[in-house]
Amino acid sequence: MGKTALIIGAGGVGRVVAHKTAQNRDIFEKIVLASRTKSKCDAIASEVANRGLGEIITDRVDGDNIDEVAELIEKYQADIVINVALPYQDLSIMDACIKTKTHYLDTANYEHPDTAKFEYKEQWARDEAFKQAGVLGLLGSGFDPGVTNVFIAYAQKHHFDEIHYIDIFDCNDGDHGYPFATNFNPEINIREITANGRYWENGEWIEIPALSKKIDWDYPEIGVRDSYLIYHEEMESLVQNIPHLKRIRFFMTFSEKYLTHLRVLENVGMTSIEPINFNGQEIVPLQFLKAILPDPATLGERTKGKTNIGVYVTGVKDGKEKTIYIYNVSQHEEAYRETGANGVSYTTGVPAMIGAKLILEGKWNGEGVFNMEEFDPDPFMEELNRQGLPWKLIEVE
Ligand code: NDP
Repeated sequence: MGKTALIIGAGGVGRVVAHKTAQNRDIFEKIVLASRTKSKCDAIASEVANRGLGEIITDRVDGDNIDEVAELIEKYQADIVINVALPYQDLSIMDACIKTKTHYLDTANYEHPDTAKFEYKEQWARDEAFKQAGVLGLLGSGFDPGVTNVFIAYAQKHHFDEIHYIDIFDCNDGDHGYPFATNFNPEINIREITANGRYWENGEWIEIPALSKKIDWDYPEIGVRDSYLIYHEEMESLVQNIPHLKRIRFFMTFSEKYLTHLRVLENVGMTSIEPINFNGQEIVPLQFLKAILPDPATLGERTKGKTNIGVYVTGVKDGKEKTIYIYNVSQHEEAYRETGANGVSYTTGVPAMIGAKLILEGKWNGEGVFNMEEFDPDPFMEELNRQGLPWKLIEVE
């Protein structure tokens, strides 16, 4: 039976979720897209209609306001809220879902606007409230976090008795032709990259200076690229949910050109989140930088090339050591053709739709707050192949 999804956030990812839910009308019979700026929702809704995918209802909402979100959920009797606004809104939208007893899903963990630190603590603390409301909160249903967690759950279920080492590799090899731009929200992106690197080994977190560890990694279908160790949020839940783990790290590619720009911006103070006084007005340098950089939502049309995100997992099966590599390769141009968004938004928005679909179909069910690896990976892996993110698995000799 068809259900109602309320999507909050009309950026690059919201655009993809709108298109992909509209392609799956058997489940998402009614789709509501709401954001701070209603005109952005209207533009996406008319593109979806022009592609022959039917009606999307649009509305305005301030995701920071629990009562406003709760009213919106009740107005449309939403069965699930797909939160693809910014991580700052996670807690308020979760609280609105608790209040209205509605399923919840997001793609990035909560961050406080004033501290460049992200962790699951405050979202996990709502587990009991979700249980009492009798609904499911699914955290991090994007690509990474999201599909990476599912890949690891799949490796655990089908390929290993014990997983010992995990490296997650994220390569965006797309070129948008600008000297410097970020592929998703610049504020969130730069906060993530300029933070200290962190990985987990033998039961403890090890912190290293930002971008101080680089390796060359050969990405299938792309080639060798500089890959830097950074902290990434899926590691926090995976160290809890994958038993026998000895080490987990996360690597992301950055070009020398990108890093040079970033270093200069950092050195002159443009990436700071400390407010400063400018001509009598308080401004946050990073927010000002966001305002002058290209809007990621406009990059789709210009971006060419591929993304490759995957997990490289080593462990033991039947007493023998083995390694597998599971990854997806996506093409920016194809993402744009299908949804008008770039490959990064596409690889995030498709898994958000799949997570919501599995919850509404009852294939992923439960009460409380969950991370992706806590559910059966098989239906999610099947949907990835069906919905535009096919994956490959290599057994490494
Ligand atoms: P954008 O900045 O393009 O879009 C964010 C949208 O959220 C905008 O439409 C914005 O509205 C809206 N918004 C911001 N604040 C509010 C608010 N208070 N109330 C309602 N709406 C609000 O971001 P992206 O689409 O690139 O990213 C969306 C999310 O996806 C982010 O949380 C990001 O961290 C996450 N992400 C996750 C990835 C993963 O693999 N897991 C990868 C990439 C992104 P307006 O334009 O009107 O200001």
